[in-house]
Amino acid sequence: MAGPAALGDRSLRKMGLQENLKRILLENPSVKKIARGTLLTMLQTALTSGNRYSSISQKKLRLHSFGHAWRFFRNSGRSVFTSLFAPVELVFAHDLLPFPLESFSGFAAASGIVPDLLTETEKRWLSTDFCAFHRTFIGITHYGLLPNPKFLLATSHVCDGVLKSFSEVSRLYSSPLLFINTPYRKSREALKYLSGQLKRISEEIEVLTGKRLRKSALEKAFFYANRSSRALREIGELRQNSNPLMYGDEGFGFLFLWAVLMGSRSGAIVAESYRDELRRRRESSFNEIDGRKRVLWLHLKPYFENRLLSILERDIGAVIIAEEINQQTWEDLDMRRPWESLAHKLLDQVWVGGVDNRIANIKRSIEKYEVDGVIHFSHWGCKQSNGAVRIIRDAVNEYGIPFLDLDGDLVDPRNYSEAQYRTRLEGFMEMMEGR
Ligand code: SF4
Repeated sequence: MAGPAALGDRSLRKMGLQENLKRILLENPSVKKIARGTLLTMLQTALTSGNRYSSISQKKLRLHSFGHAWRFFRNSGRSVFTSLFAPVELVFAHDLLPFPLESFSGFAAASGIVPDLLTETEKRWLSTDFCAFHRTFIGITHYGLLPNPKFLLATSHVCDGVLKSFSEVSRLYSSPLLFINTPYRKSREALKYLSGQLKRISEEIEVLTGKRLRKSALEKAFFYANRSSRALREIGELRQNSNPLMYGDEGFGFLFLWAVLMGSRSGAIVAESYRDELRRRRESSFNEIDGRKRVLWLHLKPYFENRLLSILERDIGAVIIAEEINQQTWEDLDMRRPWESLAHKLLDQVWVGGVDNRIANIKRSIEKYEVDGVIHFSHWGCKQSNGAVRIIRDAVNEYGIPFLDLDGDLVDPRNYSEAQYRTRLEGFMEMMEGR
């Protein structure tokens, strides 16, 4: 029984904070209030001592993320809603501020407001079969929690829900949707087709903003994007053939680097800070993480308050040594052929094309990171990730290591059962240890 009397002071304070946050966000929504809230959180983060964070770089990541969110909410005329795999470098080059709508669903989950938002969308007959990331951000827009965007920029690759949900949000805000149709596979023709679209999209942005794209601005965005990509690549290398240098729980934060800050100075600063910190840890033979077994985590982790990763990484002694979403697969951007090089970047995503790309990436990761077991989080409503689980399991089994398919929801906590996950994770650990 976990009635209020059974909860510690800290939990009660946390509940109080979360209730307050819910009230502010849902009973009295205001974009200005949210902007003030992000600024306050940024200041609070700056004043909180570093040891509350797993690494100094995590504090920097939080500071830069809230700083970006604050600018996004304050500058409605420069805000752009992007999809997770959209070329945000292009948005920064046009002196605008990108923010993936899917990320807002993650923040809503962390704030505890997803059940209310989803109940609201369910009343509007939005199918519960549809991924909760999409349903949540549609709910967020219905509540008027986001600033009016200049436009929306989305791509067709990776997620087949994007066109539907972004069209709906575009309609709600009466803002244009710029949609990039990413070809299914990489080929000479596909590159040409995609480069042409990217150039045209940039011209459309010029019309919408009334400003020409400056070559120096594109150069600057590419410069910062390349610095971030190189640092992320090196982070991946540092985590190979080494004691665990960081928790995977923290590694999921890199999503913000490549999906939101790529092409910005903040992105480069944070990625390089992480790289330098992991370099130092490696040089000093860092061994503070009890990671008896090394796990490759496929897809994402739940964003609402939960202990799933803590059970794995703090309680039972395994560590996530690599996250599928953080594998760097693209080359540097090249100013001598900007549109083609951006097209290369989009088509080099492992999620583009058939599942064979994803499998090849998983196999490479198992080998490079000397993985003892693989966990796939199968998010309800995500055909892209779940549809391939059986084939992935077979590919992992070729290595004679255990595979665990955890199913659940990444943003909706209503069916989360910690006891069930704990039992399954403990069984998985026993299998890894029994090999
Ligand atoms: S979890 Fe799957 S369906 Fe949902 S947004 Fe991500 S890729 Fe799309």
